[in-house]
Amino acid sequence: MSEPIRVRFAPSPTGFFHIGSARTALFNWLYARHTGGTFLLRIEDTDSARNTQQALNFLLDGMRWLGLDWDEGPDRGGDYGPYFQSQRGEIYKQYRDKLLAAGRACEKDGAVYFKLQGERKTVYDEFKKAEIEKVEAAPVTIRDAIHGDVVRAETQDFVIWRSNGDPSFHFVNVVDDIEMKITHVIRGEDHLSNSSKHVELFNALGATPPVYAHIPLILKSTGQGKMSKRDQGALIEEYQRRFFLPDAVRNYLCLLGWNPKTDEEIMPIAEIIRRFDLPGINKSNARFDEKKMAHFNTVYTQALGAEEFFEKGVAVLRAESALLQDADINYVKDVLSLCQPKLAGLEALPEYTRYFFAETYGEDVAAREKTLKKKGLAGVREVLAEFLIFADAQTDWADEPLEAALKIFAEQKGRSTGEYIHAARLAISGRSVGPSFYGLLRVLGKQRVASRINAWLSKPENL
Ligand code: GLU
Repeated sequence: MSEPIRVRFAPSPTGFFHIGSARTALFNWLYARHTGGTFLLRIEDTDSARNTQQALNFLLDGMRWLGLDWDEGPDRGGDYGPYFQSQRGEIYKQYRDKLLAAGRACEKDGAVYFKLQGERKTVYDEFKKAEIEKVEAAPVTIRDAIHGDVVRAETQDFVIWRSNGDPSFHFVNVVDDIEMKITHVIRGEDHLSNSSKHVELFNALGATPPVYAHIPLILKSTGQGKMSKRDQGALIEEYQRRFFLPDAVRNYLCLLGWNPKTDEEIMPIAEIIRRFDLPGINKSNARFDEKKMAHFNTVYTQALGAEEFFEKGVAVLRAESALLQDADINYVKDVLSLCQPKLAGLEALPEYTRYFFAETYGEDVAAREKTLKKKGLAGVREVLAEFLIFADAQTDWADEPLEAALKIFAEQKGRSTGEYIHAARLAISGRSVGPSFYGLLRVLGKQRVASRINAWLSKPENL
């Protein structure tokens, strides 16, 4: 039997939670869930000058929001803790001393260097303008599930313990992967250049290196250069703030460097877990597409169950103070279920529903121009006056009867239903687009429809 799979996400909390980091966390999580292995979260916080509590909070919060639950790590514990590198100093010292005792490390100018094995010669380095020692070490093999075997040779001893008393990234990263029995290291391709150092360390410490999976970089939407934290859409925190659905964001992130080898894109996470595997990860870089992410969010939002959509919708309206304190719950329910089918995302909800919850909601300039351009003000007034008569005569104020009745009414008047729809929508909502027209009439109610049209007709600018 092969050993149980253990993977880790090992972030350094130095800023916001970037989508590149989130995608690395996600791929580790997917692999653990796919294989029934263990996913652990290890905080690489040895650089006390750059690590902050706030950055850690963004990270933990973002992971939870995305549903990336860890089996071992902060707040959870586990058999291989502590899971903060800042608390593991004693362990690192033991490993350092082991290398020193074995002659695989040496002290120089206050720092401790890992010593490569091989023939040494002193050469002049043009770039550094100094003599340096080069080592002809035998190449090591990085076993990579995506790139295949990558064979690289290190040529210089490297620091494992700095002169300021802190262990180096390379060293603690490898020590912890040994101590925590990590079997697969899934991380960004930018770390591939570190991996030969890491394999050297594993070998010197008598441990088998893990299988690596260096995942492709995420490029900016223009395709030019690596996505940076300053790029629009780069931070998980931004999606949280904008009321994106975490399932939509997670689904989109799954496809940044992986796909099921079919055209399917929007899939339940259980299905992605079932199909995800390391060899399926692309070698080529992934390109971030903000529009596509927004599209995923729209699809997920429109697919929410009525109850869930209502809960989330009310929370958004409250957060944006877009809901009257005394709003009737059944009215709010009707508004939300009417608006869900065409809503782009929860972020758009306060604006999309404004005229349902306020009598002063403003008129969209373009919508007004569009409606008046065709018929002129007098024409629109005439149509609205007829519509008032129509509305008053209706006894069955529900979508289908209203639709059927308006059709007959329009035929009698020799007009298209569209003429009534455009004019009335402008008068009762101030827009030219929105939810289904008959649903809009139903939800606003007969009285409110009539009073809004009357109010519109008596506004000075509409006389
Ligand atoms: N702390 C490193 C980083 O954030 C971890 C790299 C690794 O996964 O090995 O990039």
